[in-house]
Amino acid sequence: MKPVQDIFPLLTSPKRVVITTHQKPDADAMGSSLALRHLLEGMGHQVTVISPTNWAGWVNWMPGAKEVLDYEADRPRAQAVLDAAEWLFCLDFNIFHRTRNLETPLRNMQCVKVLIDHHQEPDEASFDYGISDTAKSSTCEMVYDLIVDWGHADSITTEIAECLYAGVVGDTGSFRFPSAHAGVHSLVAFLKTKGLEHGKVHEQLFDNFLENRLRFTGHVLLHRMEVFYEYNTVLIAIPKSDLLRYQIRTGDTEGLVNYPQSIQGIKLVALVIDRDEERKWSFRSKGDFDCNTFARKYFEGGGHFHASGGRSSDTLEKTVQRFKQAMKENANLLQ
Ligand code: 5GP
Ligand code: MN
Repeated sequence: MKPVQDIFPLLTSPKRVVITTHQKPDADAMGSSLALRHLLEGMGHQVTVISPTNWAGWVNWMPGAKEVLDYEADRPRAQAVLDAAEWLFCLDFNIFHRTRNLETPLRNMQCVKVLIDHHQEPDEASFDYGISDTAKSSTCEMVYDLIVDWGHADSITTEIAECLYAGVVGDTGSFRFPSAHAGVHSLVAFLKTKGLEHGKVHEQLFDNFLENRLRFTGHVLLHRMEVFYEYNTVLIAIPKSDLLRYQIRTGDTEGLVNYPQSIQGIKLVALVIDRDEERKWSFRSKGDFDCNTFARKYFEGGGHFHASGGRSSDTLEKTVQRFKQAMKENANLLQ
């Protein structure tokens, strides 16, 4: 994989570009994809963002979100766009299998492939150009850096600023994680000079749900949360019946895994949701406990040191049992 800066001289004439990201895109995935789309369109390229799956309603406010193609919902149209693409940008993921059904189509594309991502263990061999940097707070920060490196800082519109800011807020836990280094605050200051109204973005991200979602949160914290003080660990296991009862939609469970971190002394929070196709894990840690390694070792997953995810094909009950066993094996690391 050659340095991402090497693409600058290659994109001087109009190209047909596809930007894609991981399944169930979050604020960073969607924000970085749309910000890059707006930039490239401003430069005269023809750009389509394709999401592997649907996404949470709370990212629909982002400028350009309505034109994003959902691969699962409209395969023929998305495939035609993929077939015609000369360039593919992959943002906020680093290995094709994180795109579910889009994995094979992406692999089969013959065009130039570019990676921009901040997760661990990138599959660099699959990309021609790119940048992979786990020290970056978010892919939005990386797209910002790219825009500045490219000499297009003056082309940052309010729309681009809103998309970038949303991803930074999302991936830094609203600026609380160690990843929110000085450069992150500087870039926000710059986005403010481009017309960013940060309060508006916070409202769109956090005050944009229905009553049922808040009641679901209460129900889960009261009835589905187990605290293991001996292991400084909290486990939340959500059965499918809860999702149906509260009419939970894509994105409604985002942020749930953060609540137990407010309990004194907790080092690891594990949340598992009984989805149709699999049991899906989210892990969050504090201090020196490495969630990425934990997710990789026990649940076919990965991510970052303090935030990761994984999956299991076992029943919810069996998956929970396996987690408890893993927690015990990690007793020393959890002290
Ligand atoms: P979340 O819990 O918010 O879904 O994910 C936390 C972090 O872990 C994100 O950066 C996400 O990209 C990563 N992640 C979530 N699930 C998986 C997975 O199954 N595999 C890998 N490699 N990373 C994941
Ligand atoms: Mn990200």
